[in-house]
Amino acid sequence: MKVKSSKTAFSLLLALLIVNGISAQTETSPENTRAIEFPDIPGYVTLKCDLHMHTVLSDGNVWPNIRVQEAIKDGLDVISITDHIENQPHQKDIPHEERNRSYELAQEAAKGTSLLIIPGTEITRDMPPGHFNAIFVKDVNKLNQEDVMEVFREAKKQGAFVFWNHPHWTSQRPDGVATLTEMHHALLKEGLFAGIEIYNSTTYSKEALELAQEYNLALLGNSDVHGLVDWSYGIPEGGHRPVTLVFAEEKSAEAMQKAMENRQTAIWFKNTLVGNQVYLTPMIEKSLEVIHKSQGPVPSLKIHNHSDADYILENLSAYSLHNFASVFVLKAHESTTIQVKTVETMDSFELKFRVLNAFIAPDQHPEIKLIIE
Ligand code: ZN
Repeated sequence: MKVKSSKTAFSLLLALLIVNGISAQTETSPENTRAIEFPDIPGYVTLKCDLHMHTVLSDGNVWPNIRVQEAIKDGLDVISITDHIENQPHQKDIPHEERNRSYELAQEAAKGTSLLIIPGTEITRDMPPGHFNAIFVKDVNKLNQEDVMEVFREAKKQGAFVFWNHPHWTSQRPDGVATLTEMHHALLKEGLFAGIEIYNSTTYSKEALELAQEYNLALLGNSDVHGLVDWSYGIPEGGHRPVTLVFAEEKSAEAMQKAMENRQTAIWFKNTLVGNQVYLTPMIEKSLEVIHKSQGPVPSLKIHNHSDADYILENLSAYSLHNFASVFVLKAHESTTIQVKTVETMDSFELKFRVLNAFIAPDQHPEIKLIIE
């Protein structure tokens, strides 16, 4: 219900913005490029990651170096090329017995850049259990075996982090509802997977988010791109690929895996953020900087949004706004002026907002505070 009402509010707001020409009050920052940008949070760096993608070494359409170049253009910190073990449609043209090649080729292509390449692969089975990615894997060849439980056990033996891909995929779940089967329970019981995609390609699963919260699984959102990222996500027209944000102590494979084991992730897709509020709330707060203030009974605040998200805010403060209704947008990489009716002239005051395009549970939005001094 909340999602619906926020959508309605957003459409109304867009209409208002167009009618009132509010955009004239904002200014575009010069560094606004296609690079995906979210701030670090206290104690952690925010790693922008795409941990599910394909190349010609399975059923994708590009060589691994293209995945590396796309990721650099998108400002990503980490990618994992997760070619299918079992699905090898180009094998006649590209004989491919060495299943670690996509990783090796991507590593070579990323040499001298800051892009981190994590070894990975996709375990590709009928439902159950469906498709899973194993990342931080040591030798993909050893996962190329018949018995699916043994494949998962081998991944665990190699110290991999395994997550369930698109549990809501309509080719395997005609109703689109992510559901655990007996086999999934068996896998969980043995600790054989620890994460779940709640977003894949262009599709979202609220039920997968519920499962993640019930079974303490890390949240992931990835492109699963097979063709070109630009074409799949309309990037020249301002689109972006979905990414998993990992809050790690530093930018390294070890720190990233530790963060994933601790469920320190969030996801970013279609101008929506989903994640644990422990990380998501500070990230949204860190995105916003109050850069100008005028005094008086109706102070003006200029708020700059340093992130890629257009934040849709609902005002929960003790004061109403003079130039907006209770729902308004802080556009990505722009400054927006809000006028607050504090009525009395105050040295400091607190503003509180609900972020309608972010979720900390299937129907719950995070709340942020801005202290104005
Ligand atoms: Zn895939």
